[in-house]
Amino acid sequence: MIKNWAPVIGRFAPSPTGDLHFGSLVSAVGSFLEAKCAGGHWLLRIEDIDPPREVAGSATRIINDLHRFGMVPDGPILYQSSRLDAYQHALNRLLGKGLAYPCACSRKDMPASGIYPGTCKNGIPDGKHARSIRFCVNSDICAFTDNLQGLVSDPAASTSGDFIIRRADGLFAYQLAVVVDDDFQGITQIVRGADLLKSTSQQICLQKALGITSPVYMHLPVAISIDGKKLSKRTRTDPIKHQDPARAIEQVLYFLGQNPPTGYSLEVLWDWALAHWNSDLIPRRKTIMPNGP
Ligand code: GLU
Repeated sequence: MIKNWAPVIGRFAPSPTGDLHFGSLVSAVGSFLEAKCAGGHWLLRIEDIDPPREVAGSATRIINDLHRFGMVPDGPILYQSSRLDAYQHALNRLLGKGLAYPCACSRKDMPASGIYPGTCKNGIPDGKHARSIRFCVNSDICAFTDNLQGLVSDPAASTSGDFIIRRADGLFAYQLAVVVDDDFQGITQIVRGADLLKSTSQQICLQKALGITSPVYMHLPVAISIDGKKLSKRTRTDPIKHQDPARAIEQVLYFLGQNPPTGYSLEVLWDWALAHWNSDLIPRRKTIMPNGP
């Protein structure tokens, strides 16, 4: 257990669905500096629980790129593929408490709102069979105050309804795995993209149900392209692979509202960032189109 290492433990938790890109580098740098500047530790977790979406070799390339960009985790890397027993244990606990139930519905049974209407909550309808397992949100509000975005009162009940924690293909859902592992790794602060704000409400509901203390959250603006789309690994946009690392880190710092000196070596730039990082300067926005210094 790593819980007693330091008062602050942050993390970066990429899914190996493609290479590191500008958007994910923003989360890596933001989580790294928030943890380090608080005198804390920064951990790395590879979220490899969705083999159909994985891109071969990308976990290794992400780890190597993080090293190349100057971010080395303060502990062993946790791979979610090694944690299936822990997810099953949490699932059993929720089922045992009556806080989760089997569901026979498929995507085509979902209403256009995307909010699950609770069809299988009181039992699977005759002639149908269980496919997934859902968590009972009930009327939990699960509001939280984000360190950057302020009060987020997005009740999971009205944005998703009871949500899936084990999928029809038998894989554990991201929401369950992330909650179990943030607790296991003793994570005290989560810094990630604002595209995950909606998930946070669901994760806080799960933390409450499992008796887990919630970490503090900071959701950073997400980098979007000129057509308003998120820069993501899957769209293969914006490869930073061949970019000079110091130049890429400069751009990320600038994107996060800092005023980094330009033209310095990576080492000097990190020294500057660790001495001058100021989260008050991060734009309080959910999306930004990066345009560089
Ligand atoms: N694995 C998720 C992703 O790569 C991020 C999870 C998180 O930061 O909670 O989008």
